[in-house]
Amino acid sequence: MAIAPKELRDLIRRLEKQFTGGVDMDLIRTWLPQLRGTLTSAFPSDDEIMAEVARIMGARFRAGLKSLPKRHKMHIGRLGPEIIAEQYRPMLRERIRASAELIKLNRDEEIERQLRRFAGWATGSLPSQAKRSDKGELAKGVTKALQQDTFERRRVCIDQGHKLIAAVDDVIALEHGAIAKKWRHVIPHAGYQSREEHLERDGVVYAVKGNAMLEAGRMRKAGRPYAEDLDEQPAVAPYCQCFWEAIYDLEDLPDDMRA
Ligand SMILES: [Zn+2]
Repeated sequence: MAIAPKELRDLIRRLEKQFTGGVDMDLIRTWLPQLRGTLTSAFPSDDEIMAEVARIMGARFRAGLKSLPKRHKMHIGRLGPEIIAEQYRPMLRERIRASAELIKLNRDEEIERQLRRFAGWATGSLPSQAKRSDKGELAKGVTKALQQDTFERRRVCIDQGHKLIAAVDDVIALEHGAIAKKWRHVIPHAGYQSREEHLERDGVVYAVKGNAMLEAGRMRKAGRPYAEDLDEQPAVAPYCQCFWEAIYDLEDLPDDMRA
């Protein structure tokens, strides 16, 4: 970060002190451009965002790949984790780029929001309010916005990392002929907001449409929809940490799905 958040807060405090009441055009004309510059450098730059996203998502990707053999049993074939990592690296790169774009948009929006607050503050009072009691509010607001931005950035990275692994899982299940999928709901951390309908699906097995065992009459869908036809898929909704556990063998199906 080019400047410390403290520098930004100090600048805003100085501006708040200079406020003369009423519509302070001088404050707006002189200070708005400078405030924009200072605000911009208090938030992470494009390069810093890219580096942070790559670091967090890269770690999530490696951890996800490590647990692939467990999630897909032996059906990831004889491929070692390195070969799989190579195969899916383009998906990682694509998602890193997309996530960084999303985070940059959020950042730019936040900078504009703070500038609007400042302009609103410098124009929205009566002349007698030069000694307004809300001085200090702008600086506090900016501090909060910077903290929130850091938090949101991590949240987006973790969510996108999970979506990436879910997408990798999906391709592997498809390529290796999964016959069914079990919805798994986990509570990854305290304060995680479970979705009621996802919690209800935890452990429920759904057939994969048109799979070889279904065609051969060796399994049934047991009155449940096909996995692909559900109104929702795991890990698609914002911050959902559910995932599919692929099933490849008839013996791993619940009793009611075996023909
Ligand atoms: Zn969920």
